[in-house]
Amino acid sequence: MFRCLFLLSMLILPNLIFTPDAHASTFIGNGGNLLDTTLRSTINAIAAANDRARMAGDNLCACKGSSKQCGQLQELSEQQVEFCAGFIQEHTADLGKLLSPNSGIAFMWIEKGITERDSKRPADALTQRQKKRILIDEERFRNLTSADRIQLLTHEYFHLLQWNGRDIVDSGEMGPFSGQDGARHFLDVLGAAYVIEAMRAEVIPLQSSDYSSPFYHFRVGLSYGTQNESDSVKARSFLSKDTDVTNLSLSYYRRASSNFGLALRYLNESATSNTGGVTGSIEREVGYLGTEWRSLLIGGEPDSWWSLVYYTVMIGAGGGTMKHKISDNFNTFDEGTKGFGGYLEANLHVPLKFGLFANIGASFEYLPYQLKTLGIKQKKPTTSTLLGVSYGF
Ligand SMILES: [Zn+2]
Repeated sequence: MFRCLFLLSMLILPNLIFTPDAHASTFIGNGGNLLDTTLRSTINAIAAANDRARMAGDNLCACKGSSKQCGQLQELSEQQVEFCAGFIQEHTADLGKLLSPNSGIAFMWIEKGITERDSKRPADALTQRQKKRILIDEERFRNLTSADRIQLLTHEYFHLLQWNGRDIVDSGEMGPFSGQDGARHFLDVLGAAYVIEAMRAEVIPLQSSDYSSPFYHFRVGLSYGTQNESDSVKARSFLSKDTDVTNLSLSYYRRASSNFGLALRYLNESATSNTGGVTGSIEREVGYLGTEWRSLLIGGEPDSWWSLVYYTVMIGAGGGTMKHKISDNFNTFDEGTKGFGGYLEANLHVPLKFGLFANIGASFEYLPYQLKTLGIKQKKPTTSTLLGVSYGF
């Protein structure tokens, strides 16, 4: 089950391990973190579940089904179900206020894990009541299903409410939920009940999607592109006008923060054509190192295919070797050189399954060079259209 820490005092804060790597979302959905839209969807789903609990109010904390959360509710005694349902009805108004966009609750993404100072126990989330702040372990949240996210955050939200005039904490017993971990168990049960209400309100799918998730740490990819080359360079290289330079690009991405990463490209650009017995060819091998920004396109309904569509923009610098070759039946002549340049690439990535994505995009390459003997001057930037696949993990 979720492990959660509840801190009454902010004194403990400086001693937590996360401090240097934490970054805040003042409210959610400000684009600062790739998971912001997922967080917003989760809160919207909890709000819809809360509305349903208030309006309909039937069968609270009870269900017939095979989901994980329903399984947790089915283990409850009759007395516990009754307590749970009464508790929810008692708190829907207050919780509704907390779930509204101007409630003043701040969220903070934690990158290096949340660890309690004393017990060294990891936690998925942590609520600081006095600061009205909920800290969330980014990595763990990323890997949860929509239902698990609702359960986790519902648990945290209830820490910001009171029961019989006292704070709701994790330890000790609570009503018919007895034992040292009774309260924690009850908060998880509340979370499960809200998952069921969210399903009844049809704001989350019964089955989580199995599309590839864009919240990966690494990505490798292969793209095929068609590059426009100036007519003058083509003529000098003995390439016919209608021969395209094609490029094969290998890409590597390594996440640095939620949106930024390190990006590498290796490009192999080539063209060959034969005109009147003369064969001309171009062969370029270039590498670029740079940084890549990624962001979800629209966010949207959780677990929907659309919510996982994202785009990337990469900018980099690098260099490589260029070789032009001209030959007929009797002679071969080639000339090569080295050069440096800059590279810009943008792609739209759509989720497939098993970690795979398809991408469509365009690139802009500036790689000036000169071949004196052949009289070739490549001085203009070239653009390419790209089509590719990648694997994120
Ligand atoms: Zn808790």
